[in-house]
Amino acid sequence: MSKKAAPPKIPPAATAALIAAGRLFHQRGWVPATAGNFSVRLDGKSLAVTTSGRHKGELTETDFMRVDLQGRALDAGKRSSAETLLHCQLYRHSPQAGAVLHTHSPASTVLSRKHDSIRLAGYELLKIFEGIQTHDTVVEVPVFENDQDIARLARGVDAHMRTGRAPHAYLIRGHGLYAWGRTVEEARHRVEALEFLFECELHERLLKATGD
Ligand SMILES: [Zn+2]
Repeated sequence: MSKKAAPPKIPPAATAALIAAGRLFHQRGWVPATAGNFSVRLDGKSLAVTTSGRHKGELTETDFMRVDLQGRALDAGKRSSAETLLHCQLYRHSPQAGAVLHTHSPASTVLSRKHDSIRLAGYELLKIFEGIQTHDTVVEVPVFENDQDIARLARGVDAHMRTGRAPHAYLIRGHGLYAWGRTVEEARHRVEALEFLFECELHERLLKATGD
């Protein structure tokens, strides 16, 4: 009888990339206090995710743990982020997803409280997304209702994505952004682009509101 294969170890390069992303995001004001959570896929059955309650600007190698794609802990004595099931949903849904980054910026928080979806149209930076070669396009970022029942929230996101929508990212109302990529670097670029675009949208909507 073959023994059940042990989950892969977390590659040091992956934790280093997530630690660096956390520092950058904290400097930019996108992960205040212990907000946000990050993960990287290990293989077809497991991922490494930040442990619960850690400050994302001050992460160390010990602030990550392995869980399976159902969110069950594979490392004893550690508790994963409360939102682990949202990461699991993305890895299950998208075989290409290799890293998932979640931020709580002021722009995404404010915009998601006001709108059911954020329409990003005509921006040069939209070319960062796969399959987009021109600014002359529209990306809709859906907003899901916030829910402390993360399993229920993950089911709602999954049902939405099964219809082919939200291919790039989504927001949770009054809460923040989920973005992903094939690598930590690609996911980080997408977060940087989206947070920039949300800030632009916020400024533009404020200008419109003041009649400028
Ligand atoms: Zn969150």
